Amino acid sequence: MTNTQHSFQTRLLHSKHKFDPETGAVSVPIQQASTFHQKNFDQPGKYDYSRSGNPTREALEETIASLEGGSHGFAFASGMAAISTSFMLLSQNDHVVISEDVYGGTFRMIHDVLHRFGIDHTFVNMTDLHEVATAIRPNTKVVYIETPSNPLLNITDIRAVAKLAKANGCLTFVDNTFMTPALQRPLELGADVVLHSATKFIAGHSDVVAGLAVVNHPALAEQLSFLQNAFGSILGAHDSWLVLRGLKTLDCRLKQSSESAQKIAAYLQQHPKVEQVYYPGFTSHPGHSTHSYQAQGAGAVLSLRLKDEAAVREFSKHLEIPVFAVSLGAVESILSYPARMSHASMPKHERLKRGITDGLLRLSVGLEKPEDLIQDFEQSLAHVEADSLVRRVSV
Ligand SMILES: *Cc1c(COP(=O)(O)O)cnc(C)c1O
Repeated sequence: MTNTQHSFQTRLLHSKHKFDPETGAVSVPIQQASTFHQKNFDQPGKYDYSRSGNPTREALEETIASLEGGSHGFAFASGMAAISTSFMLLSQNDHVVISEDVYGGTFRMIHDVLHRFGIDHTFVNMTDLHEVATAIRPNTKVVYIETPSNPLLNITDIRAVAKLAKANGCLTFVDNTFMTPALQRPLELGADVVLHSATKFIAGHSDVVAGLAVVNHPALAEQLSFLQNAFGSILGAHDSWLVLRGLKTLDCRLKQSSESAQKIAAYLQQHPKVEQVYYPGFTSHPGHSTHSYQAQGAGAVLSLRLKDEAAVREFSKHLEIPVFAVSLGAVESILSYPARMSHASMPKHERLKRGITDGLLRLSVGLEKPEDLIQDFEQSLAHVEADSLVRRVSV
């Protein structure tokens, strides 16, 4: 079993699944089977059909449960599959209180899908406890947090919101994608369901789409296990293995990337063509003290605001190192443009209300040498026109 005395860094490598008990193989075997032979129908084996249970997926599920400090983990075909399946814990006429700056896909699920099934929602500024308290109704069943939020890195006090939710008989869901259990363990702060897009930092190599959910109550685990099988959006054996492999280096990847992110954020903040930098590692960030209390690092994601779309176009055109893409949390740095990428499914007025303007960029810092990245930003920012005042004077 996992020795909980060991540090997180060590436990990533020396878990219950460090070697295969059958062969000694120092890698979890990929059980590429849809079905399992039963000795007879009176004594069914542990596994019968891979939607209900697969040994490779189970190794991942046990590993993430242990790392998050939970009792049960569940692996899904994507982060959205994990989130959507967890929402199936709700029933008609239930209500959800949810962060207004939630991931675009979660916004779409709650706004365009669950709504049709009679599940109502209220978007709130989750950093404002009074607003959260006011939004809770008698039929509220879930308070849904994402912290740091995407893409403006707002910080929600997990412990305070979970306490408020519990006092009102609601479950607290936390999307922990940006932090991972290496930096933040919401169950220890009172959350009930932790969700991940394992596509991001957990798998970490831009080569797999996967989702995870972790709980710490047997009754909740039973319900989620039932829903995972009923809904059927499970993670395949190969992809489960890829996530397990990615997890082994999670701690050192995140340490390096976070250290680089802090340097890059500081560089960008002093650049005259960058209007604003959002990074919870700045002591000036409004959520800095809350974040420092509940997480062990500021993470590898930051956002920056340039003047407008034209500036974004010039900047991204001349950048050489980061890939310009959707997604985050990979070994390579990824620059994305929320207005047209992660939040494209959000109506423009909703986007602007959340501060996702046409000049906003999100950077997920990878494992490149930070000085190389800074040099690349320096040369690409040089192509961005100075400011409107200068331009007006020059015409
Ligand atoms: C990517 C992401 C998701 C969705 O995960 P997929 O694996 O793409 O389905 C959910 N939440 C956050 C914060 C994300 O970044």
